[in-house]
Parts: sequence; structure tokens; C-alpha cells
Amino acid sequence: MTTYDYDIGIIGGGAAGLTVASGAAQLGARTLLIEKEPVLGGDCLHVGCVPSKTLIRTARACHTMKNAQDFGLPALDLPPVDFAKVRERIRSVIAAIQKHDSEERFCRLGVRVVFGEPAFVDEHSVRLEGGTVSAKNWVVASGSSPQRPPVEGLEKTPCITNREVFSLARLPASMIVLGAGPIAVEMAQAFSRLGTKVSVVQRSGQILSKEDKDMADGIMKVLAAEGVVFHLEASVLGVKDLGQEREVRIRTREGVAMALKAEQILVAMGREPNLKGLNLEGIGVSFDRRGIQTDARMRTSRKHIYAAGDVTGAFQFTHAAGYEGGIVVSNAIVHLPRKADYTFMPWCTYTDPELAGIGMNEKAAGEAGLEYDVFTEVFEDNDRSRAEGEAVGKIKMLLDRHEKPIGVQILGLRAGELLNEWVAVLNGKVKLSTLASAVHPYPTLGEINKRVAGAYLSPKIFSDKVRKGLKFFFNLKGRACGPGDGA
Ligand SMILES: Cc1cc2nc3c(=O)[nH]c(=O)nc-3n(C[C@H](O)[C@H](O)[C@H](O)COP(=O)(O)OP(=O)(O)OC[C@H]3O[C@@H](n4cnc5c(N)ncnc54)[C@H](O)[C@@H]3O)c2cc1C
Repeated sequence: MTTYDYDIGIIGGGAAGLTVASGAAQLGARTLLIEKEPVLGGDCLHVGCVPSKTLIRTARACHTMKNAQDFGLPALDLPPVDFAKVRERIRSVIAAIQKHDSEERFCRLGVRVVFGEPAFVDEHSVRLEGGTVSAKNWVVASGSSPQRPPVEGLEKTPCITNREVFSLARLPASMIVLGAGPIAVEMAQAFSRLGTKVSVVQRSGQILSKEDKDMADGIMKVLAAEGVVFHLEASVLGVKDLGQEREVRIRTREGVAMALKAEQILVAMGREPNLKGLNLEGIGVSFDRRGIQTDARMRTSRKHIYAAGDVTGAFQFTHAAGYEGGIVVSNAIVHLPRKADYTFMPWCTYTDPELAGIGMNEKAAGEAGLEYDVFTEVFEDNDRSRAEGEAVGKIKMLLDRHEKPIGVQILGLRAGELLNEWVAVLNGKVKLSTLASAVHPYPTLGEINKRVAGAYLSPKIFSDKVRKGLKFFFNLKGRACGPGDGA
């Protein structure tokens, strides 16, 4: 029988790789984790979720201070933001979380961590630090990087991406954001709130193009009111370095050529898989420009080599990477055939207001040719939203023709947190009548979840048929007041 150095080898110490490593080692597998950076944690911890959410919180505090009068407080004259201090806060949050993702902690779990860049020499072995190491199973969890689109002049122009934006030496006076996906839009609002003049250039006709237009437009309206300038349906003609500033030439939706100038250009035009140097082609692992192709059990075209996380190009979220890591552990270590099911994969864009979703939105349901009904409640009718002074947004619940929920989208204050109730409802197949009749504390934002379920049920409960039945059995006398009756 062939023997290998390890039961499982993992390439990449981000959300996906760390999930596999801790699960495999704790189940007793001899586990190797290889990371090319000098620290574990991946993009999410160092240049993704954690720094972005920390920056967003700081920007929100700044926004609240600037708008103190909206809360009945005296107006404040704020001095300019010192980005070095903001950067310091970001670093300290990362450092606190880093402890959970330290080499020592994984070593205690039984994982051998090696820092280096491996390349496959055959389908069970990689070259690493001048030697060769083998494993029965491998997992490629090398994540993704910002895509550099083929824009004229981009290579020669100093631009920033998510790798640099959180460690800038000072707050840029102005910034052009190329792209309008979640990362672009979150950063546009955060920097604008801190005092940067921000413009967003987007090729398609809406921001957050995977979202329903009404929800995405709701966010755009808020950002535009805060001062972010949007150029939709605009094509980027070229980029130039002007020394102190950079220039982005665009063609607007009206066909007019225009030059935008700013201190910084943030490129956020999609992601590409980290595959360089792994020699996947040499060992017959199939991939395309989006990422490594896998089946539902996260197996690549070489069945003992798995892929998980951003590198598959599917759902590029930390929680998706962790979920897929768990699928790998089930299949590769426990040998329980388990398939990934993305039906109720939630997501959230952390603008203010947030936009969170689970299951299908109207766009996805339309593309799938499904018949559906939409039930809506607005935050203006939620008492807590009014008290918070943040009543923008709505919840949309989609039911299929069998009246089963197929998706929920929430645009509003703390939408990501509110969505968690739907994570339980949809995964637990909880009846809408249970949600609608469960007592929610007052006044909470979460009451909107109960109300939207009620919006579906109330026409059934308060129907003519029910009214007639009650009248017949209990001799109810009907309306005591109607249109035209004065109070
Ligand atoms: C600005 C920003 C904000 C984000 N915000 C959120 C959010 O709020 N919520 C959310 O769910 N997701 C968010 N994401 C996405 C999230 O960061 C990713 O989905 C997640 O990090 C994917 O995890 P992963 O393990 O697949 O990849 P990563 O976390 O990127 O880990 C991959 C690891 O592999 C290493 N690696 C790469 N190549 C090699 C190699 N050849 N050899 C060895 N190691 C290698 C990398 O150094 C890295 O450590 C955000 C992303 C960005 C950029």
C-alpha cells in the first residue's frame, strides 16, 4: 500500500483552509497546512471582511457625529480625519482576531503549519522548501485576488485595491472607484463619510448588479445623498498618472467622453482565482478563468484533490468558504458523502443601510423562470427604525406558486442581523404562521420579519369567507364605522 507523509495537505490558510485544517486534525488526520504569507487568516482577516467592517464602523461614527443635529444635539465642527489613527484601529482589531488564527493554536490542534509556496510535482506530492511532501488527499484553498481588467494605462498607473486601501498613509482627498460590486460600494460610502470626495464608475446600469434593481437603487440613493457621484453605464477608456493625481477617462451613458481626476483610484472590478505557480495543469486538475471546477462534494477533476472557498469562483464569502471546508472534511476525512447545497446561502453588503439576502431574489427567480409572489414591508412602518432615525428600506419575501418561501431580501438598518432569523426559518422549514404568531420584543427591527410573514397570512385570516363564517356562527354584527362616518 502506498504511504504518504500526511493524510491531508491544505494549500491556503484562509477561511476555507483553516476550517479543513482544524476539522481534519481534530478528527485525528495527520494534517499539513501550507500558507504563502507569513501569517494565517487569509484575505478576510487581513485585507477583507475584518478591516472593511472596522473601517465602516469608524465611518459610521463619523457620519453620526457630522449629523448630530438630526438627533437633537448641537452641531459639531469636526476636524479632518487622521487616517493613521483609523489605520491603527483597523490593525488592532486584526491583531485581536489573529490570535484565533495563529500558528500556535493550529499546532495545538495537531496541524503542522508550513509557510511557503508549493507546486504540485505529481497528483499526491508538492515541492516545498526545496523538498517534496506527499499527502493522500489535497485541498486547494488558495483564495482569490483583485482582478486587473485590461484598461489602457492601468499597468503604468499607481492604483490601489483591497490589499492597500486599509493601510493608506493618509485619507485621500478624492477617490475614483472602478466597479460597483459589494467591495466597491462599501468602500465608496466609508471613504465618503470620512471626508474623501468619491466617484464610482460602473459599466452596467445599476450598482450591485446581482441584486434586484429596486434594492440596489435604494442604496445608491442614500450614497448619492451623502455625496458619492455615480457614473452608471460608463465605459473606462483609459487611466493615466498625472503625478499628484490620476486621471480616468470614461465614456458616459450619453456617449460623452469625460476625464475624472482624483488622488487615488480604487480598482474593485471583480476577483480572479489564485492559481499561479501551483502547477494544477501539470496534474490534470481542471479550472477556467473563474476558478477550479468542482462537483457538489468539492472534488476537482482529480477526485482526491478538493477545492474550497474563493478559488472555486462560486460564492465568494467567508461563510461559504467555511461551509465548503466542512464539506471537504466530511468527504475526505469522515468518508461521508456530503454535497454542498447553496439554496439558502445568505449574503450581506455592509453599506448603511445594509442589503442582505437569502435564497432567490426577483432577478434570480425570473432567470429561473419561476412564478412567484412578493410580500413587502417598509422600515418606515417599524417603530424602532423611526426611533433610530434610520427608516430607509424594506423587506421583500418571495413565495413560489405553492406559497413556499424561496427567498428574502432586506434593505435596512442591520439587515445582516435581521436576516439570521430567516436563515433559521428557511433552513428549519419553519412555517410562516409560526413566525407570524411568535412574539417578538417591541420595539425591535426584527418585528419587520414577523410583519412580512403576517402580510402573507392576514388576507387569509381576515377574508370574506372567514368573516361570513363567524357572522353565521356567532351572529357578529359587522362594521361599526366606515368611510364617510366622521370621528
Ligand atoms: C474588501 C473585502 C471585503 C470582504 N468582506 C466580506 C464580508 O463582509 N463577508 C464575507 O463573507 N466575505 C467578505 N469578503 C470575501 C472574503 O474575504 C472571502 O470570501 C474569503 O476570504 C475567502 O476565503 P478563502 O479561504 O477562500 O480565501 P482567502 O481567505 O483569501 O485565503 C486564501 C489563502 O491562501 C493563500 N495562498 C494563495 N496562494 C497560495 C499558494 N500558492 N500557496 C500557499 N498559500 C497560498 C493566501 O495567502 C491566503 O492566505 C470580502 C473580501 C474583500 C476583498
